[in-house]
Amino acid sequence: MSYYATTFCSGSKYEPIKEKWEDRVKSKCKNAIVKIITNNNSNNDNIVLINNYAYAWWDMVRLHNNLEIISETNKPVVNIDSDLIIEKDIEQLVNLNYDLIISTEIGNNNAFPKECSQILGFGVCTGFYIIKQGAINFMKNIYESMKTNKYNTYSDQVNIMNYITNNNYKVTNAEIFLDDIKYINKIIEIDNIKICVLDFNIIIRDPIMNIGQFGNHINIDNVDGTENFLKYFDNDLESLPLTCRCGKVHLGDNSICKHIELRNK
Ligand SMILES: [Zn+2]
Repeated sequence: MSYYATTFCSGSKYEPIKEKWEDRVKSKCKNAIVKIITNNNSNNDNIVLINNYAYAWWDMVRLHNNLEIISETNKPVVNIDSDLIIEKDIEQLVNLNYDLIISTEIGNNNAFPKECSQILGFGVCTGFYIIKQGAINFMKNIYESMKTNKYNTYSDQVNIMNYITNNNYKVTNAEIFLDDIKYINKIIEIDNIKICVLDFNIIIRDPIMNIGQFGNHINIDNVDGTENFLKYFDNDLESLPLTCRCGKVHLGDNSICKHIELRNK
C-alpha cells in the first residue's frame, strides 16, 4: 500500500540536501509518494504568525502539513528529516500494526528533554515518525499543545514527551524480526492508541555503523556542515569520518571518542 514520505526543507543548511534526499527515498522506498514541504505557501503563513519563527517553528509547519495530508488522503504519512539518509525500504516499518511509530532519541534516560526521559527511561526522536489513521486525534492534540505553547516550546518532540509523561500510559517491550535481525521496540499505550518507539538500531543515530539499519540520522554539525554531510549519501560509511560528537570541542564536547575502537575491529 502506498504512503506519503515527507520532509520539511528550509534554509541554507538543508536546501542543498533536498535533491539527494528525494532521489534516495524514491530509489529505496518503492511505494512512497514523496513530498517536500517548503515554507512558501500561504497556509504556512498563518502558522508562523503564531510562533513568529521562534525555535522549532518548523515542527509546527511540518506537522500541520502532515496532518492535512493524512486527513485528505487516508494514507499513512512518514516524516523523515532531511538529515536522515534512508538505507532500506521503510515499508515494513509503515506496516507495523501501531497508530504512531517513532524513532528513538540518543541518550536513553538522559535523552532530550531530560526531565521527561528520566521518567520514561528513554526518549523519542521526531526526526522519523509515521502517523497512521488511529493517531490523527492524538497528533492533533499535540499540535494544539504546540500552538498554545503549553510546554513552553513549539518542539514536537518536547510536546510529545511531556504529553506522555503527564498522562496515564503503559510501556511494554515488543520483540520483532526485520530482515532476520532481532529488535526490541518499546510500545507505549496512551489515550487508547499504541505508539511504537523503534529500536535505536532501526533508525540509527550517532555513531553510525552498518548494522542493517533502515536509516542513518546524522547530525550535520557533527560532520562539519552540509557539504561533508552530502558525502554520506554517496560514499561507503567506513571511508568517512565518524558521525559522533565526541571530541568536537567547537561543538562543546570535550570527551574522548571511544567509537574509533569499534572501527578498528
Ligand atoms: Zn565517538
